[in-house]
Amino acid sequence: MSSIDKHTLNNEVNRRRTFAIISHPDAGKTTMTEKLLLLGGAIRLAGSVKAKKSKKFATSDWMELEKQRGISVSTSVMNFEYRNVVCNLLDTPGHQDFSEDTYRTLAAADAAIMLIDAAKGVEAQTIKLFEVCKLRGIPIFTFVNKLDRESQDPLDLMHEIESVLNIATYPMNWPVSSGERFKGIIERESKCLHFFEGRNTTTETVAKIIPLSDKVQIEQCVPADLLSGALDGLEMVEMAGDAFSHEKFLKGQLSPVFFGAAMTNFGVRLFLEKFLDMSPPPSSKGSSEGKIDPFSTQFSGFIFKIQANMDPKHRDRIAFLRIVSGAYEVGLNVKVPRLNREIRLTHPQQFFAQDRSTLEKAYAGDVVGIYDPGIFAIGDSLVENGDFVFEGIPAFAPENFAVVRTTSALKRKQLLKGLVQLCQEGTVQMFVDESRAASDPILAAVGVLQFDVLLFRLKNEYNVECSLENLSFKHARWTNASIDDIARAKEQTDVVSVRDMQGCYLFLFKNDFSLSYFQEKCPYIRLFSSNSSL
Ligand code: GDP
Repeated sequence: MSSIDKHTLNNEVNRRRTFAIISHPDAGKTTMTEKLLLLGGAIRLAGSVKAKKSKKFATSDWMELEKQRGISVSTSVMNFEYRNVVCNLLDTPGHQDFSEDTYRTLAAADAAIMLIDAAKGVEAQTIKLFEVCKLRGIPIFTFVNKLDRESQDPLDLMHEIESVLNIATYPMNWPVSSGERFKGIIERESKCLHFFEGRNTTTETVAKIIPLSDKVQIEQCVPADLLSGALDGLEMVEMAGDAFSHEKFLKGQLSPVFFGAAMTNFGVRLFLEKFLDMSPPPSSKGSSEGKIDPFSTQFSGFIFKIQANMDPKHRDRIAFLRIVSGAYEVGLNVKVPRLNREIRLTHPQQFFAQDRSTLEKAYAGDVVGIYDPGIFAIGDSLVENGDFVFEGIPAFAPENFAVVRTTSALKRKQLLKGLVQLCQEGTVQMFVDESRAASDPILAAVGVLQFDVLLFRLKNEYNVECSLENLSFKHARWTNASIDDIARAKEQTDVVSVRDMQGCYLFLFKNDFSLSYFQEKCPYIRLFSSNSSL
C-alpha cells in the first residue's frame, strides 16, 4: 500500500483533468494543442509542436515518424498545469488510418474537445470520433475554429452539429462576423465583447473585453451592422436554443460551444478556463467487481495503448496505463489478473514530446508509460489488490481484411507468435474462421496503413518476411446471437462467420448489398458495429 494519505490523494485526484481533442484532419488540432501547452507553460515557443503529417502519408513516413518519435505518433500524453489543475492531454494520431488508436485512447479520456473548422462544419472523421465519445457518454466540448477566415453562419453551424451528430448545443459565446470582418466573440454569461484586434500568431493576445452596455466603446470597435447581426443570432439562440443542463452535459448529451481562432490565439484562454471549470475530475470505471472509485486508496489502472520501438536502439515496448484509482509510487507491486502474475512497477515514465522522465508519484487520472517486456495486451487491468478486471476497450468494425503469407514454411510458428503479439498490441484485429480447419487467421483493420505497419514489424521484430493477400470483405459486424441462430443464418445466406480473439462471433460481408440482404433474411440476428454493445 502507498504511503500517500487520503487527504493528499483526494486533493490530487480532484485537480486532474484527462481529455483528448477530436477533429477531422486540418481542423486545427495541432495548433490548438500547441496553444494549450503555451498557456500551461509547458512549451515556450509557438511552433514547438510540429504537425508531423503529410498529405501523401506513406508507410515510410510512418516509420520515419517513429524514428523521430514525432509527437503525433509516439507521444501519448502531454501534461501541463494551469490554475493549479493538472491537465493530461491525450494525443491521438493525425492520420485517419490510425483511428483505431484514437478510439482506444478515448477510452482513457474523461472528456473530449471536438474541434470544428468554421468553414467546413462537421466532417467525416469528426462524425466517427464523435460516435466513439458518445458511446462512452463523456462530456464533449465544441470549439469552432478558424473564425478569422470566412465561416458558415453560426446558426447554420449549430443546426448542423445538432442534426448530424444528434446532440444538443449550448453556445457559451457567439461570434461577431468572420473572416476579414471578424470582430470577436460575445460572451453570453458576462455579456461582454472579447474584441479581436490582431492576427498575432506567436504570443498570446490579451483581448480587450468591453461590456455590451458600454455603447460608446462598442461602437468604436464594431460596425453597427455586424453587431446587430450577432445580437440577432444570439437572440435566436436565447429564444429557440436549449437551456443549459449540467446533467445532460456530463452525460455527453449537450455540448457547450465556443468560437475562436486557435492560430491567432483568440478565444483559447477563455475556452481553457471554462473547460477547467466545467470538465469533471476522474470518474469511476466499471469492472468485474462493480464501479471502481478513483478516490479509493488501492491502486488500479488499465492499458489502453502499447507503443513499440519508441527507441529503436532498445527494441522496447511501452504500455500506456491510465490510472483509475489510488496512487502510484516507485516500486509498487501490482497484479495482472489476466496473466495471474505480479509485477513491480519500477520505472514508470511520463512522456513529453521527445523527453521521457521517470515518475515518482502519479494519481488516478494520470497516464504513465510502463516498460512492457512483451506480456501486455490492450485492455489489461493492473490492480494492487483483488482480482477484478476493468470493462474491455471497445473494438470497432474494420473495413479492410487480409491474410498474410510467408514463403518459408519454417517460419510459420514465428509468424503466428508475431501475429498474436502484434494483435494483442492492437496493430490489427485477428479473426479465426472455425468452419475451415487450419485456415489462416483473417486480419482486419480500420485503416489500410495498419497492414503496412504489421508487415514492417513482422519483418523487423520477428524476422518473418510476409506478403499480404487482400480479402474481398467490406464490413464486419459483431453478434450476440446463439450458436443455433448463427448456424441457421449461415444456412439461409452464404455469410461467413468468424470469432475474434476474445471468442466473440462476427459476420463478414462482401458489400453493402450483402449486409442489407442478410439483415432482411435474418431479422432474428442483431448486428453491432462495435463489440462494446454485446
Ligand atoms: P490538424 O490537422 O487538425 O492538426 O490541423 P493543424 O493544427 O495542423 O492546422 C491545419 C491548418 O490550419 C494549418 O495551416 C494551421 O495553421 C491552420 N489553422 C489552424 N487554426 C487556425 C485558425 O484559427 N485560423 C486560421 N486561419 N488557420 C488556422
